Amino acid sequence: MNNLICRKIKEVCSVDNPEQVIPLHEPDFRETKAWDYVKECIDSGWVSSAGNWVNRFERMIESYTGCEHAIAVTNGTVAIRLALYISGVKPGDEVITSPMSFVATANAICHLGAVPHFVDIETERYGMCPNALADRLDEIGENRDGDIYNKESGRRISCVLPIHIFGNPLRIKEVVDIADRWGLPVVEDAAEALGSWVGNNHCGSFGKVGCFSFNGNKIITTGGGGALVTNEQETALRARHLSTTAKRQHPWEFFHDEIGWNDRMPNINAALGVGQLERMDIVVKRKRDLHRKYVEAFGDVDGVRILNIVGDSPNNWLISMTLVEGNQKEVEEVRNSLLEFAQGQGLMLRPVWRLLSELPMFVDVPRGELINAYEMAPRLVSLPSSPNLVSNSEDIY
Ligand SMILES: *Cc1c(COP(=O)(O)O)cnc(C)c1O
Repeated sequence: MNNLICRKIKEVCSVDNPEQVIPLHEPDFRETKAWDYVKECIDSGWVSSAGNWVNRFERMIESYTGCEHAIAVTNGTVAIRLALYISGVKPGDEVITSPMSFVATANAICHLGAVPHFVDIETERYGMCPNALADRLDEIGENRDGDIYNKESGRRISCVLPIHIFGNPLRIKEVVDIADRWGLPVVEDAAEALGSWVGNNHCGSFGKVGCFSFNGNKIITTGGGGALVTNEQETALRARHLSTTAKRQHPWEFFHDEIGWNDRMPNINAALGVGQLERMDIVVKRKRDLHRKYVEAFGDVDGVRILNIVGDSPNNWLISMTLVEGNQKEVEEVRNSLLEFAQGQGLMLRPVWRLLSELPMFVDVPRGELINAYEMAPRLVSLPSSPNLVSNSEDIY
């Protein structure tokens, strides 16, 4: 069984040398002008927090996502923290999120002195379940003069932070509708979802603010980097201001009108990003091709299923995932034996992150019932998904 799965994966990844180690995800700089652009930064001396590449990168993110404003920052965690801050999250508040995510989502909440509050995921896209959100708010939410309080903990609830995980667009419209009904802003963690859409609208464009990451394991990389997107001019101005030490624009004076952060993306990283974004369509196409090959190869394999969401929400397939089927009691063991076997074969398969609700920092935070999250987490395995596993000759333009 494990042998068959690993053989199929190697077939999809079309590696010639059976000894070759296949990593989970590597950045792809083929045919980009990244090197020329980075060199231009170095030659000109504009490598740091000012320069034209940041501007260019932001305008490209705006036109790619269809959002009116993009603000480039140093990483995705910082983007989420800044988005939450601008959305009004204060120390001691609760932010509603879901437990299946990278730890950065919950960390960003805590960096503001706020507390994550977990609600369940749904079992098709693994994002926040709109029904779970609605039920939980009905259960514990109380409107006191326009502010929503958790009547069990006594804390204010100030924001909803859903995650488009592995690039799967979550049921964001429903989540936004429910949050709207309670007067709560939505910040989308779209760190993994550049190139993913719901209908004709890009992930990250539905809430008040959307957040992207350009870390090395994401769909494009700037080395390290992130961005906020928003359609609200006020919000964009505030993000820009706070991310540049809240310095008032002036030809020579240093005047800062509140406590800000030094969050802006350096020019040299933005240059790398421009080189990558110019090739975005091809990268997404390669990801989708790789994913289609996995779906085809595993069509007749019992015991595992490739996640394949069909509908009007095109996915970037940042990471192709497989689901280990079978009895809940045994599934973790079955998965572990697959991971171990694959490791011996030089194949990097990885389990989904440990649920955030299980991590020592978050074991005591408020939560609704997390039935789906606990059922799905032991079943999910990520497959090698580097765009360079699809050879150039396979690209159809
Ligand atoms: C990568 C990631 C982040 C954080 O981005 P960094 O750039 O690594 O700080 C946040 N949320 C999710 C879902 C991510 O995958």
